[in-house]
Amino acid sequence: PQAGQVVVIGSGLIGRSWAMVFAGGGFKVKLYDVVQQQITSALEYIRKEMKELEKSGMLKGTLNAEKQLSLISGCMDLKTAVDGAMFIQECTPEKLELKKKIFGQLDLIVNNDVILSSSTSTLLPTKLFTGLKHVKQCIVSHPVNPPYYVPLVELVPHPETEPSTVDKTYALMKKIGQSPVKLTKEIDGFVLNRLQYAVISEAWRLVGVRMTNYCERYREGMIHVLKTFGPVPDFSGEIEQQISQAMSERTPADPEHLNARRAWRDECLMGLAKLKKQM
Ligand code: NAD
Repeated sequence: PQAGQVVVIGSGLIGRSWAMVFAGGGFKVKLYDVVQQQITSALEYIRKEMKELEKSGMLKGTLNAEKQLSLISGCMDLKTAVDGAMFIQECTPEKLELKKKIFGQLDLIVNNDVILSSSTSTLLPTKLFTGLKHVKQCIVSHPVNPPYYVPLVELVPHPETEPSTVDKTYALMKKIGQSPVKLTKEIDGFVLNRLQYAVISEAWRLVGVRMTNYCERYREGMIHVLKTFGPVPDFSGEIEQQISQAMSERTPADPEHLNARRAWRDECLMGLAKLKKQM
């Protein structure tokens, strides 16, 4: 797509980070939300983040922070937000009915060129987009939290998505510095979460059996390990309590501690990104 305007729908964790990524790529960004306070706090957060990134030499793109900030504006009217947009990135809560409602509203007001993209982690394109008039312009662009620091984006088409929609989204993601990966068709969990869930499940089983049997056998190779994978855990009960107790001992689950932990994580990711840049 040509340089133009991008709309981010939902200004929570993912939406605000996407807004920064698009502004870094030089795009005008309309940040839409139904809660004014969310927009206000998102804009404050983005200002603070960009200023810090600029100080540490980690700001993305070629424009300075003030210039990038001037590209982002909040908006509470959907029609105004999408007017003239070439790409819409939906970042609302992970609820199928809510997202279907939003795509239904967009379907009525968008033109035949704009791309409708969802950040969903778990909802399949056929669930989200089937029946929409503009289904050929729809795609899932699943980021990793936070997209500003972790560039991987999974692109998952609906069976009726036009190849040009995938290609344009791929090109846009590249342009703004992300690392897009195309999936040819939808699959539960996409690729990233399938891999992640396999690792998490196995970690869970290892905690559950205290690693005894597994450690004796682990040298026998990958295939053997894969064959020893047990049934799907239920992610509840005693092990869940042990894990969540251990986690809250390290980071108590109140906003102050959680925000401090997030800031620490982002700092580490920023350091990692810096190292990669040097390589
Ligand atoms: P969040 O709760 O932080 O933010 C959601 C935002 O959407 C809020 O600001 C809320 O006010 C707004 N909203 C609610 N209803 C709305 C509506 N009708 N119109 C516009 N805005 C509305 O959620 P999040 O963590 O940013 O997740 C957003 C999406 O990104 C989800 O689909 C999630 O699965 C996906 N995602 C999340 C992560 C993650 O780790 N958090 C990673 C990848 C993808």
